Amino acid sequence: MTLDPTRLRPATRLIHGGTVRSEFGETSEALFLTSGYVYDSAEQAEGTFNGTVEHYQYSRFANPTIGMLESRLALIEGAEACRTTATGMAAVNAALLAQLKAGDRVVASRALFGSCHWIVSTLLPRYGITSEFVDGADLGQWQAALSRPAQLVLLETPSNPMLELVDLRAVADLAHAAGAIVVVDNVFATPLLQQPLELGADVVVYSCTKHIDGQGRVLGGAVLGRKKWVDEVLQPFIRNTGPALSPFNAWVLLKGLETLPLRVAAGCRGAEAIAEFLAGQPQVRRVWYPTRADHPQHALATAQMSGGGTVVTFELAGGKDAAFAAMNRFRLIAVSNNLGDSKSLATHPATTTHMRIGADERARLGITDGVIRLSVGLEDPEDLRDDLAQALAGG
Ligand SMILES: *Cc1c(COP(=O)(O)O)cnc(C)c1O
Repeated sequence: MTLDPTRLRPATRLIHGGTVRSEFGETSEALFLTSGYVYDSAEQAEGTFNGTVEHYQYSRFANPTIGMLESRLALIEGAEACRTTATGMAAVNAALLAQLKAGDRVVASRALFGSCHWIVSTLLPRYGITSEFVDGADLGQWQAALSRPAQLVLLETPSNPMLELVDLRAVADLAHAAGAIVVVDNVFATPLLQQPLELGADVVVYSCTKHIDGQGRVLGGAVLGRKKWVDEVLQPFIRNTGPALSPFNAWVLLKGLETLPLRVAAGCRGAEAIAEFLAGQPQVRRVWYPTRADHPQHALATAQMSGGGTVVTFELAGGKDAAFAAMNRFRLIAVSNNLGDSKSLATHPATTTHMRIGADERARLGITDGVIRLSVGLEDPEDLRDDLAQALAGG
């Protein structure tokens, strides 16, 4: 008897969801590292192309290993359909360009991942698509921007790096009233801590490079939404423009999903402990962590998220000099611009990930020169605390 995967609980879905065994009965998901497929006959090839036969055709369109990953991701998100891409940015780009056209209008939260910000502010206007940014936490600004018709809303919550939240339910209602579909970049929350589709979003995008791999190995992206939208709007764009994920990377990500709940839970516990430690240090001016009582949107965080995530952001009173000095003294924590890894990684956003957006936009976002973003990994939090303590104390 086959199990109905939608009746399984999340952790079980992440182990078994989407698995299709080959004739060999392998335990672990098979890696179909193949670009193409052969047909039993010319007739079967003809039928595959005219749609009367179901058969794999070309790995730019579909592949069995990628299909397992897409089914598993759709199951955990509670989405009707999923398509994966080679990177998170390819996923965001496909979700936007698959449906936008000249004359359309996009409203986005200002606190977007750098490349998402570039697509909205620089790329879309080149194609005659106008865009407007709002402060994501300010519902009044969303209301004003969405008092005129719009076709698409793009937002990220919690945001990178200041962990600012957007009220998903309220913005989805405003967006729908304006005629827009809502695309949520859910990377910081992961599929486990926040379910945007349940809160009114239409499309969810991920950089699988982050927690879904979670071990710093491969790049990947995913777009999830309704079956009709995925089949009719997204799939033709992906199929013909070719941002396809490698089957090898899909296989790595499938194995990553199996341990996602364990890793995210441990990362959240570590991040909470680190945030608490940092809040008590005299060199630290401020700490941001969504579910902490001192976060300005704490009530919203606890209402729409089931955990605060694995990233803690903090500001050192001594500005850039203090931030650089602390980062250069880390022995365990590595300096990197990545996040969502099993290794703890520290970033100085003002001089790296958010250097290009300029000083004015950084000031609007609260990214001062003393801000450090810490992606908390799976090390023992006591060792991370020791490393932070010695780095802040001056070695
Ligand atoms: C990393 C990231 C992306 C881009 O993903 P890549 O896999 O690096 O292309 C998009 N949005 C957010 C929030 C991210 O953290």
